Amino acid sequence: MFVFPKITLRPDVYQYLRNVFQNKELVAAVGQVEAERRFEELLYRLSHPPSFTCVRASTHLAPLNTIRERLLEELREMSCHYPGDIPILSHTHVPDVLLLPVIGPRPALPQNPEVIVGALCGNAVLRGAHVFAPGILSTPKYMKAGDLVSVFSDIEGKCTRGSKDFQGKKVFLGNGISEMGRSDIFCSDEPVKGVGVRMVEPVYLSPSFDNLLPSLVFLQNLPSVVVGHVLGPQPGERVLDMCAAPGGKTSHIAALMKGQGEVIALDKIRNKVKRIRQNAQALQLDCVKAYCFNSIQAVCSDHAQKPDEGPPFPAESFDRVLLDAPCSGLGQRPNMGCSWSLREITSYQPLQRKLFHTAVQLLKKGGVLVYSTCTVTLAENEEQVAWALDTFPCLSLQPQEPHIGGEGMPGAGLSLEQLRLLQRFSPVQEHGGATGAPAAPLTAAAEGDPARLLRQANTDTIGFFIAKFLKT
Ligand code: SAM
Repeated sequence: MFVFPKITLRPDVYQYLRNVFQNKELVAAVGQVEAERRFEELLYRLSHPPSFTCVRASTHLAPLNTIRERLLEELREMSCHYPGDIPILSHTHVPDVLLLPVIGPRPALPQNPEVIVGALCGNAVLRGAHVFAPGILSTPKYMKAGDLVSVFSDIEGKCTRGSKDFQGKKVFLGNGISEMGRSDIFCSDEPVKGVGVRMVEPVYLSPSFDNLLPSLVFLQNLPSVVVGHVLGPQPGERVLDMCAAPGGKTSHIAALMKGQGEVIALDKIRNKVKRIRQNAQALQLDCVKAYCFNSIQAVCSDHAQKPDEGPPFPAESFDRVLLDAPCSGLGQRPNMGCSWSLREITSYQPLQRKLFHTAVQLLKKGGVLVYSTCTVTLAENEEQVAWALDTFPCLSLQPQEPHIGGEGMPGAGLSLEQLRLLQRFSPVQEHGGATGAPAAPLTAAAEGDPARLLRQANTDTIGFFIAKFLKT
């Protein structure tokens, strides 16, 4: 069987993350050996995709079962090698998701001339995408459309665009058929677009969701869907999503509000704001208003300003606020190589605190604030909660519904009771998970054990963190 390496980190980042898992509180709670095992397993899991592809179903437009049937029909019609009879699971605690088992790693062999893609493109291929031409870095010298090729990911970012023979560290992703010749990819006057290699034998098989039922399903990681439910928006409310692009959570919030009320979505990057609007439009949600704005400056001192004029807003303008913070992203999977420096990894805590100050000011008394990240460090998660509880006496931690992830990690001085109120998705099994053993959802499916499949879907996710506060 094909074995991927563990994620490659710079030595100082490796040591920083290792220290997170060797902190005194965690070691006292679970023991040195178990803490070490969790760290090693995390490194292994990060380089592999989660064992399920999760899509959020537009239950504001159609019932879940209708959407599941439509999805099955589409999968049967697509020539994507994904079995049309695979079980598409619903989730007992998250009413608007469908889960599709990822099949792999499969015993494909690299027998063809090599195409090298960038690491980000490679990660998308491992989650079911075809190779889009802009992600291609190197092809065989005489590659033409229709050639069989073996696709590799340049996990250290060392391959130069247009190279013909790359000898650096690479990981095999599967075999495919090129849809373009080498000169179409590297010698065109226009920026190259579209599928460059159609994957026919990927190491990990999941359906490609490119343009698949765009108004009915939205590709979103399970913990991200949980965030929307934990925030609990109600029809008619005014909700702020402070760091919103590309709008996955914004559109979920609007759907949960059944399109009634107002969802204000801010992001500081203009091009990304367009994506929020496009996503809301595709999902037929017209209560979303998206603005390009730096959320740190989103509170105005002018109380005469009307909240519906757009940012900045007067204090206490919103019933609920979501701060899905910019973060070091170390929970994202699959990720075989992270070239970030320790300085970059540790730069987020101050930024998140500035955004948090704004969030608390903009929230009405009695309102709900949800803070989330897709990373696994203590500094951006539990330490932020400890800081927030100290800094804002008006905030109290609240139970989360649903709570399908684990509890918070010891290490930031929070009490056991407080840790239990936090939701940490850690792609690590709590007791004796077999390090290096790939997840085997299909085996469990074959055994007809949906409860086991759901447990696996809840634990084998991206790394993610959620805290819910009430302002009194
Ligand atoms: N919530 C999004 C979703 O579910 O689709 C993902 C958000 S992503 C984790 C963080 C976002 O924060 C990025 O799109 C980034 O551009 C934005 N961001 C970073 N700093 C910001 C700031 N000061 N004000 C507004 N947005 C910011």
